[in-house]
Amino acid sequence: MSIIDLRSDTVTQPTPGMREAMWAAELGDDVYGEDPTVNRLETYLAERLGFAAALFVPTGTMSNLLALMAHCERGDEYIVGQQAHTYKYEGGGAAVLGSIQPQPIDGEADGSLDLTRVEAAIKPDDFHFARTRLLALENTMQGKVLPLDYLAAARELTTRRGLALHLDGARLFNAAVKLGVDARQITQHFDSVSVCLSKGLGAPIGSVLCGSAALIAKARRLRKMLGGGMRQAGGLAAAGLYALERQVERLADDHRHAELLADGLRELGFAIEPVQSNMVYAQVGEQAAALKAFCAERGIKLTAAPRLRMVTHLDVSGAAIGRVIEAFAAFRR
Ligand SMILES: *Cc1c(COP(=O)(O)O)cnc(C)c1O
Repeated sequence: MSIIDLRSDTVTQPTPGMREAMWAAELGDDVYGEDPTVNRLETYLAERLGFAAALFVPTGTMSNLLALMAHCERGDEYIVGQQAHTYKYEGGGAAVLGSIQPQPIDGEADGSLDLTRVEAAIKPDDFHFARTRLLALENTMQGKVLPLDYLAAARELTTRRGLALHLDGARLFNAAVKLGVDARQITQHFDSVSVCLSKGLGAPIGSVLCGSAALIAKARRLRKMLGGGMRQAGGLAAAGLYALERQVERLADDHRHAELLADGLRELGFAIEPVQSNMVYAQVGEQAAALKAFCAERGIKLTAAPRLRMVTHLDVSGAAIGRVIEAFAAFRR
């Protein structure tokens, strides 16, 4: 029985073609700037997303932290959603390591931050206050795709108020594929964008931070300081390049599978939130632990949460979706 792992899109295995690309990668010492494959990845993604420079890093957490620390000095502040990954799921790194004060605000149901609330949270220029420097958004946000006109409005606000604008684009390409636009239509509004290669794109490791040459130079220094300077990292970069060149369009399959799963579970009477990309949220309440155990016996891995998140990815086939729906049906009986 093959295992179906719906806990996250981080669990994917490198495809055979990706493994070959990793094995064949030309290598050098990237701390010296001499790894040709890392350099190729950085140049490729910077160009594809419309930035002057990019930096390959081990994780999205480090990528976001470098962006926050490159935009903000000690005693500065960034505005961020209460549920945002950078605020809630990265160990408080901005505060701990960057001496950057987060100013969290509640998010909206569509994954955005209300811009009137954002503007109200910007502190006046007064020595009582931390200096508000940056707004950080996330896209997709818990599977939801931020509308392009919202991004334009966020850019207008941040420009008018002298703030930088960062995107945690861990799943940027899910958003672009869902909207059917070039990713630049999203990234053009931002001063920096962090992209995860290790989520639905299917690479085993790695994120890339894109920004101006000056911002990336600063981030490069910080990366070394934080211990993220990797040496012959080209094998990992090759996986990322392979994913960016061949595994972006197929994200549409994951979105279709998520829709199929949502439809099937809704028919069984489960309360399912509307699906926009590769995440399905089900309200299972106190059944969470029992459901997880029941599915585990059938080779299906779930997280035990009352608001259960199921994530589709390149190791979840259409047939697997059918098996999951059957398991939920059997649980219901
Ligand atoms: C996964 C993720 C990150 C980065 O996570 P790492 O595990 O550190 O690579 C950042 N933001 C979001 C929204 C994510 O889903």
